[in-house]
Amino acid sequence: MGEYAGLGDVRGKRVLVRSDLNVPLDGTEITDDGRIRASVPTLKALTDAGARVVVVAHLGRPKGAPDPAYSLRPVATRLGELLGADVAFAADTVGESARATVDGLEDGQVALLENVRFNPGETSKEDAERGEFADRLAALADAFVSDGFGVVHRKQASVFDVAQRLPHAMGGLVRTEIDVLRRLTADPERPYAVVLGGSKVSDKLGVIENLLETADRLLIGGGMVFTFLKAQGHEVGKSLLEEDQVDVCLGYLQRAENAGVQILLPTDVVVDQEFPSEGREPQPVVVPSSEIPSDSLGLDIGPESAAAFAAALEDARTVFWNGPMGVFETDAFADGTRAVAEALTRIDGLSVVGGGDSAAAVRALGFDEADFGHISTGGGASLEYLEGKELPGITVLED
Ligand code: ADP
Ligand code: MG
Repeated sequence: MGEYAGLGDVRGKRVLVRSDLNVPLDGTEITDDGRIRASVPTLKALTDAGARVVVVAHLGRPKGAPDPAYSLRPVATRLGELLGADVAFAADTVGESARATVDGLEDGQVALLENVRFNPGETSKEDAERGEFADRLAALADAFVSDGFGVVHRKQASVFDVAQRLPHAMGGLVRTEIDVLRRLTADPERPYAVVLGGSKVSDKLGVIENLLETADRLLIGGGMVFTFLKAQGHEVGKSLLEEDQVDVCLGYLQRAENAGVQILLPTDVVVDQEFPSEGREPQPVVVPSSEIPSDSLGLDIGPESAAAFAAALEDARTVFWNGPMGVFETDAFADGTRAVAEALTRIDGLSVVGGGDSAAAVRALGFDEADFGHISTGGGASLEYLEGKELPGITVLED
C-alpha cells in the first residue's frame, strides 16, 4: 500500500504538492538550493508510494503574468538532479501544457508546473478570483499536500483555496517546521534567547511584542538596529532607518526593562561611506554605535558587540535566530553574522535558524547545517507563528 499522511493509498493518484522552491537566482544559476533540497523528502515519499506528483510553486514576485526572468525551469532541472529522476516541466500552470504534462505522468513520476504567480488569481485579494484559479489547479489532481512552509502564512490560491477543493494533508516539511515552532512557544527551555536582524525592519518589529512575553534575552543586529539606536537618541548617519518606527522601538525598550527582558544592542558597528557595490573596494571602519559619522552607514555589528552577543548565547538552552547581523554577502561585513552562527552551533539545547537570507548565510559562510538544531525554510511564516498570528495555510488543513 502506498499510504501518505492520512490520504490513504496514493498509488496511481495525481497528488498536487505546494512546495516552496523560491530560491535565489543569478540569471538562470541557482545560488542557494537549500529550499529545493528541503522539498525533496516529501516528494520522494510520494513517488515511493507510487503517486503521480504535480509540484506547484512560485519564484520571486512576477506581476501576475508570465515573465521569463522568473521561470521555474532551472529549478526543475535541479530538482531532477536531487531526486535522481527526470522532472517534467509544464510551460504554464493550469493551461494546455500543464494538462498535457500531468496526463503524461506515470506512477512515481514528478512534474513541476510553471511559476504559479504568473497567474493573477494566485495572489488576488478577491476570494472569487482566487477560487476560480484554485478550481483550475484542483482539476489537475486528486489530492493536495501542503508542503511549502515559506508560504503557509499567505492566503493564496495554491496554499489556501486549493486545500478547500481536494482531499488534503500536511507535508512532512511543514509538519517538522510546525513541531519546532511549537517547541519555541510552548514552554521553551530557558534561558531562551532570540537574535533578530536583517533588513525587513517593520516586518520584524511586530514579533518583538510577543517575544517580550516569552523570551529572556533579545539580541538585535542587522538593519533594524539603527531604528533602536535612534530611539536611544543616537544619530545613525546614512544607515537603514525607519523613522516612523522610532517611537515603537522606544516603547519596546521601556517595556523590556519593566518585564525584566534583556535587550542587547550593539555597542560598536562597522560602517562604510557607501553600501557595498561591485567595483568598489569596501572601506570598513569600526565606530562606537553612539558615534556613527553622518556620511557613513552601519553595515555590520562591531567586534566588541559580536563577542558580547556570542557570550549572551553561551548558556542559552533555546535560541531562535532570524536575520543576518550585517551585509554578510560582502566579506568585510560578514563577521557579526559569522559570530552569531558560530555561537548557535555550540548551543546545548535547541537552536533554530529562520529566514531565507539567514539560512543562506549559514551555508555561504561554510557552516555545517547539521550543527544547527533546525534550519527553517520560512522566515515570514515562522515570525508570524511566533507573533501568535493564525497561519491560513495551516488552519485550512485542520478543517
Ligand atoms: P531573512 O531573509 O533572514 O529573514 P532579511 O530578508 O530581513 O533576512 O534581511 C537579509 C538582508 O539584510 C541581507 O541581504 C543583508 O545584506 C541585509 N542587512 C543586514 N544588515 C544590514 C544593514 N546594516 N544594512 C542594510 N542591510 C542589511
Ligand atoms: Mg530575506
